[in-house]
Amino acid sequence: MAESVRVFDLHLHTTASDGTMSPAEIVRYAKGKGLRVIAITDHDTIEGLQEGMHEGDKVGLEVIPGVELSADAPRGTMHLLGYYIDPACSELADKLMVLQQARMERNLAIVEKLRGLGIPIELSEVKEAPEHGQIGRPHFAYAMVQKGYAQNIQDAFDRYLGKGRPAYVEKFRFSPEEAMHFIRKAGGITVLAHPFTLKQPQPADFDAFIGELKREGLDGIEVYYPEHSDGQRKLYRDVAQKYGLVISGGSDFHGFNKDEADLGEGYGDRELTYSLVEAIKARREQRLKGL
Ligand code: AMP
Ligand code: FE
Ligand code: FE
Ligand code: ZN
Repeated sequence: MAESVRVFDLHLHTTASDGTMSPAEIVRYAKGKGLRVIAITDHDTIEGLQEGMHEGDKVGLEVIPGVELSADAPRGTMHLLGYYIDPACSELADKLMVLQQARMERNLAIVEKLRGLGIPIELSEVKEAPEHGQIGRPHFAYAMVQKGYAQNIQDAFDRYLGKGRPAYVEKFRFSPEEAMHFIRKAGGITVLAHPFTLKQPQPADFDAFIGELKREGLDGIEVYYPEHSDGQRKLYRDVAQKYGLVISGGSDFHGFNKDEADLGEGYGDRELTYSLVEAIKARREQRLKGL
């Protein structure tokens, strides 16, 4: 199904985490696609922000400094997007360091598990994957494909690295409240990413859960996302409106190493306009004024 390109894409990954394009490349790519604004939202790192914002200034593309954090959810998977975070905030830097340290330890545990499964892959080999940012499971998957232990990335996840598979290792996560707190301390606002991964059984459960998150500091919901059905979009939009939360949308583009939506594509309604970004900005302004 052909999708029109939108003016914004507020969820994407660069080589600073598990994307395949550098921040500068992705900014130029977005500009070439006719987007007006993007948010750079790498997992657990803000290392791509400076380069991306600099390139944005150069080519005339608005770049929102962001981050994507995993949080401890009662069920399913919970990711939080921080928008307009100040990359110079030292508390944020400290918290990200905790996550990076935990990730390193987890990677070593994955190496051990793979070894136990007869798949000898060293961390040094994983770093030779095309992306050099935050090492994570996609990098292991890539190395496994290179060495002939899996047919493709998906196969590596399905058989080894996915949750519940034999090489899976749990990841350290902050509670949603903590994560939202330090995003706020860094001047940012927090948007719940791809809510379908929360796996809330019923709309009423989702509604109640969002009510709780709102009390803990949630600012918005990513309503527009490639994997959301029309019904999910409607539910998420309704709940966002009910709680006075801003609405966001993005492709979760990782480059071309995954069979997923291209930058600026795949997330629904054609009427999405810049006004949505303006609402996000207004929210941030309110926050800065301490309202
Ligand atoms: P990590 O941060 O190491 O847990 O890796 C998370 C990343 O792995 C996600 O952003 C996805 O890109 C990828 N991923 C997670 N689960 C799967 C899966 N079941 N199949 C394919 N890719 C996955
Ligand atoms: Fe990712
Ligand atoms: Fe995510
Ligand atoms: Zn993402």
